Amino acid sequence: MPDIVVYPGSFDPITNGHLDLLQRGLKIFDKIIVAVAKNPVKKTLFTPEERMEMIRLSLEGHPQVTIDTFDGLLVDYARRQNARAILRGLRAVTDFEYEFQLAMMNRRLEPEIETVFLMTGLRWVFLSSSILKEAAIHGGNIEGMVPAVVYHRLREKFGLE
Ligand code: ADP
Repeated sequence: MPDIVVYPGSFDPITNGHLDLLQRGLKIFDKIIVAVAKNPVKKTLFTPEERMEMIRLSLEGHPQVTIDTFDGLLVDYARRQNARAILRGLRAVTDFEYEFQLAMMNRRLEPEIETVFLMTGLRWVFLSSSILKEAAIHGGNIEGMVPAVVYHRLREKFGLE
């Protein structure tokens, strides 16, 4: 059985920080499923289809990574995918409290699936999709923080190209 891990998130949009984490995850797991949350409550800038497409275009040449969407309970989804674990990233300490609660809840719901945390690269410690969007909406230069396709999609979205 290959070691499968689910990497869930909003990915609204995918950033170089997410990609950094994926590269680290690939050193440990055989297969990573990037699971784009179709959360109807959380308002997103991009549709799940747009988010998936940007991930796909950013990840060419990585056959060990698949991209999917999910809704409902994450642990149910992970179980259906035969995943052994859930992958999450830690940036600054501010992530810890929420991630800790989430991991504990998921453990309670499904004790067989572990949550694995990896530290992002130093360059991306302060990078989040939400801060990125804040900068982009006001015309800030976000080059080098996101894959090229995301850079252009964000500029298009905000009428900058
Ligand atoms: P969510 O809405 O679930 O927080 P995100 O798309 O914001 O989804 O993040 C998905 C996962 O990627 C989370 O585990 C988050 O900690 C991680 N992540 C986000 N930004 C970075 C980054 N700059 N470096 C490493 N991991 C990150």
